[in-house]
Amino acid sequence: MENNKKNIDFYMNEIQSGTEAFQMTAGRPLSYFIRTFGCQQNDNDSEISAGLLEYMGLKAATCIEEADIVIFNTCSVRENADRRFYGNLGNLKTWRSEEKQRRIGVMGCMPVQETHNTMLKESFPYIDFLLNAGDMGNLPRALYESGRQKKHSIVDLTDQAKEMTYPSLPVKRENKYRALISIMSGCNNFCTYCIVPYTRGRESSRDPQLILAEARAAVDNGAKEIMLIGQNVNSYGNDRRKQGESDFPSFARLLEEIAQFPDLSILRYMTSHPKDLSDELIEVIGKYETIEAHVHLPLQSGSDHLLKKMNRRYTAEHYLELVNKLRSARPGISISTDIIVGFPGETEEDFADTLRLMETVKFDRAFTFIYSPRSGTPAAGWSQNVSDLVIQERFERLLALQNKHSLESNEKCTGQTLYVLVSGLSKSDNGTFSGRTKDDRLVNFCLPEAAITADELLTARGKPVSSVIADGSEVFVHITKAKAHSLEGVFAGLA
Ligand code: SF4
Repeated sequence: MENNKKNIDFYMNEIQSGTEAFQMTAGRPLSYFIRTFGCQQNDNDSEISAGLLEYMGLKAATCIEEADIVIFNTCSVRENADRRFYGNLGNLKTWRSEEKQRRIGVMGCMPVQETHNTMLKESFPYIDFLLNAGDMGNLPRALYESGRQKKHSIVDLTDQAKEMTYPSLPVKRENKYRALISIMSGCNNFCTYCIVPYTRGRESSRDPQLILAEARAAVDNGAKEIMLIGQNVNSYGNDRRKQGESDFPSFARLLEEIAQFPDLSILRYMTSHPKDLSDELIEVIGKYETIEAHVHLPLQSGSDHLLKKMNRRYTAEHYLELVNKLRSARPGISISTDIIVGFPGETEEDFADTLRLMETVKFDRAFTFIYSPRSGTPAAGWSQNVSDLVIQERFERLLALQNKHSLESNEKCTGQTLYVLVSGLSKSDNGTFSGRTKDDRLVNFCLPEAAITADELLTARGKPVSSVIADGSEVFVHITKAKAHSLEGVFAGLA
C-alpha cells in the first residue's frame, strides 16, 4: 500500500506540473482528438488519456481536422491495424505544418517496437512524441516537453519502464453506462505469435482497493455494465503473490466482490487464458447472475502439436474439460473463442483437429484469423509449409463451419424474450436500436409497428417509449429472427 501511495503521489505531481507548464506554454485551452486501434485495453487507455487531457484543460474535438493535438493509440497485433494507422498518419503531414501549436502523439503497441519506432521517426519526422503502451502517466510530460522545444525533434519516452500499475487516473468514459476497468497490465505468457509481452511488458496487477473504488464510482455514476480487462485476467494477482503478498486476492475473489454490487446489471471480463481458468473461478461464474452468462476463451488451435508450438500450455483435452465444467456450472453459458488458421507448420491433420474440436464444442461465436507474422516474435522466423491458397481455403472452410454454429446457437433464442442493455441506435440506422444480451449476443430491435405510428406505447410515467430508450436503457426484447452474427426482435417492455 505504501508503495502504491508513492506511485499515486508521483503520478499526480507529474500531471500537475505538466498541466501548469503546458497551459502556460500554450496560452489557451487546446483541443484533442484520439484515434484508437485494437483491443479493449487500448480503448481503456484512450479513455484515461482523454480524462487526463481534460483534467489538463483540453477540450474534445469532434474530428482530427478540428483538433490541436491528435493522438494515435496504436495496435500491432493484426496487420490490418498497422496499415490503417500508417495511412492516417501519412495524411497529417500538411495538417501538422499549418499551425505551430498542433501536435501529433503516438502511443500503444507500435512505438515501443524497434522496427516501428525507427520507421515512425524516419518516415514521419513531423510526429511530436512517442509513448509506451499503457503509459498514460507520462502523457502530460510528453506534451510539456514537445511543447517547449525551440527546434522540432521527436520526444521519445518509449525507454520508460513497461510494467505500469498506474493508480487511479482521471478517466473520460466513452459510454456512461459501460465502464471498462483495467485490472492488470502486461502478459507473461509469450505465445510464440504474439507481440503483447514485448510491447506491454510483464504482468502487473493493480491493487484491488483501487479497482473496487473505481468500479463503485462508475456504478454510482450510472454504469450498468462493468468490464474488467487485462491480457490474461485469470492470472490476476500472481505477480503480487509471488512477491510475497500471500493474501492478494485471486481474480475469482475480485469478480465475486464486484458481482455483489447493488445496482450493477452486468459484470463482464476479458480475456481469459485456458491454462489459468481455475475451478474457483468457474464456481464464481456459476454462482452470480450479475456475471455475464458468457466467457471468451481463446482456443487458437485444436491440435496439441500446434498448441505446443504456439506455447499455449494446454491441450485440446484440457480445453474440452474446461468447456464441460463451465457448462455444468452455468447452464446455457455462451462460449466465444479466437482461432488462428495457417500457423507455421499447420498440417491438414492439425487443421482437421481444429474442425473436430469446433464440432464438439459448437462455439456460439468465434473470431477467426489467418496467421500473419509479427516481427520480433519467435514464430515470425518460422517458415510457412503451405501456400496462401491452401490457407485461404482452410480459412473459408473454418468460417463456414463457425457461421453454421453461430446461426444454430442464435436460432435457439428465437421466440424467447431476452434482457438487453441498449447501446444506441443500430448501425444500419433504420429506426432500430442495438444492444447486447447477458450472454453477449448482439440484438437489433424496433418498437412494435403500431406503436411507432400511434406512439401508443407508454412507459409507467406516461412518456412514449421511443423517447426514453437510449444508451444504457435496460429493456426486454422478443426475438423474432436469428442471423449468424446478430438477433432481431421487437421491444417487449422496460426491464
Ligand atoms: S496470452 Fe498469449 S496471446 Fe494473449 S496477450 Fe499473452 S502472449 Fe499474447
